[in-house]
Amino acid sequence: MSDDKGRCPLCGGEKHPGTTTFAVDLKSGVVVVRDVPALVCSQCGDAWLEDPVAEGLQKIVDNARCTDTEVSVTRWRHVA
Ligand SMILES: [Zn+2]
Repeated sequence: MSDDKGRCPLCGGEKHPGTTTFAVDLKSGVVVVRDVPALVCSQCGDAWLEDPVAEGLQKIVDNARCTDTEVSVTRWRHVA
């Protein structure tokens, strides 16, 4: 995390509240979470997750690890 939360560390563009799609490839399958709240760079489109969001995603990933689902697609508002 950068100290300058208002600027993209990659391109210096402005970051705005938005949503992104989070995807993680577990050995047992793939987990996709859509509509995740994030700060999105207006120039390069890169997204940063805030700590509470990152923790929530970690829980989703941990749950998914316990199932045999090959591909799991969910929406953030359904789990948060
Ligand atoms: Zn950027």
